[in-house]
Amino acid sequence: MKLIYDLSLNELNEWILSQGLKSYRSKQIYQWLYQKRATDFEQMTELNKELIALLKETFIIDPLRLVQRQESKDGTIKCLFKLQDGALVETVLMIYDYGNSVCVTSQVGCNMGCTFCASGLLKKQRDLSSGELTAQVMAIQKELDLRQDRVSHVVVMGSGEPFDNYDNVMSFMRNINSDHGLAIGARHITVSTCGIIPKINAFSKEHTQFNLAVSLHAPNDELRSKLMPINKAYPLKDLMASLKSYSVENNRRITFEYILLKDVNDQDEHVHQLAHLVKGMNAYINLIPYNVVDEHGYKQVGFVHAMKFYDKLMKCGVKCTLRQEHGSDIDAACGQLRAKAEGKL
Ligand code: SAH
Repeated sequence: MKLIYDLSLNELNEWILSQGLKSYRSKQIYQWLYQKRATDFEQMTELNKELIALLKETFIIDPLRLVQRQESKDGTIKCLFKLQDGALVETVLMIYDYGNSVCVTSQVGCNMGCTFCASGLLKKQRDLSSGELTAQVMAIQKELDLRQDRVSHVVVMGSGEPFDNYDNVMSFMRNINSDHGLAIGARHITVSTCGIIPKINAFSKEHTQFNLAVSLHAPNDELRSKLMPINKAYPLKDLMASLKSYSVENNRRITFEYILLKDVNDQDEHVHQLAHLVKGMNAYINLIPYNVVDEHGYKQVGFVHAMKFYDKLMKCGVKCTLRQEHGSDIDAACGQLRAKAEGKL
């Protein structure tokens, strides 16, 4: 059955009109879904019985079934959900001092093949629909409702490559940003890509206020191609040119994600290459501690060494942060929980 979260307000309105109903109904339904967080059409008391019956025949609200939930000492919550077709997806809530951030999965499995990542252990089975992305945020929001709290930030940084599922991810971001939806500020919504240039260019042309993050992880082509096969199709020179034009055209800062991998990309030469790469750009680098995936053999950089790397980058004039580890006592790496559930870890 169709997922009602797949529809924007306009699309829902078109459907309402196609049923010979009045336009104001679509706003009512949207309000019940997003503001009152209805889990069942029967709860929509302003609607008449016929409309409720029609909605029940046509749509479902929640496609997710919780199969596993882990809660970390730092408040991080990781949920493993089963979709209607049995596919498993992970969603993570991280608590920061600035708000509550939800990390959503955009594809079942991933084809990008990054050599350090658990998601790629399982090849892509399919893209998630925009409604399946929205449902993940709604599930966390319903949990936060119990504490009178709200989802303030969303990052499309879970399993999958969002720009390999571009249209659905863009619809999702627009829907949760909509005043009629969850009204999450565009500047609080971030999409992260491994660097699919044609889609970065398309994103640039849309002139949205959503944030763009790019997984860099290596400052030269030789190393980046080893870590991230996508670099062979879209090498650094072309990637940086595309990002520079996005940044200038949109007047936006870019976040680069850089996982510190022991003895792989954490040496002085990498500091200098990195500084050279982002020179003159409106960018900052987010240094990320590696969540060890046993399968791959990469090791985490110790805190002292990571701080030194950070200091050296700062001295080169690069804006950067050293990300705190979240949920290290649970299976927090992208795709780890799902890979375990599927018996791949
Ligand atoms: N495909 C997109 C988004 C999903 S990955 C992308 O590449 O950006 C989200 C981020 O988590 C990426 O920066 C990714 O490289 C990082 N990541 C993946 N596995 C990780 C691990 N084991 N430890 C730390 N970060 C990881």
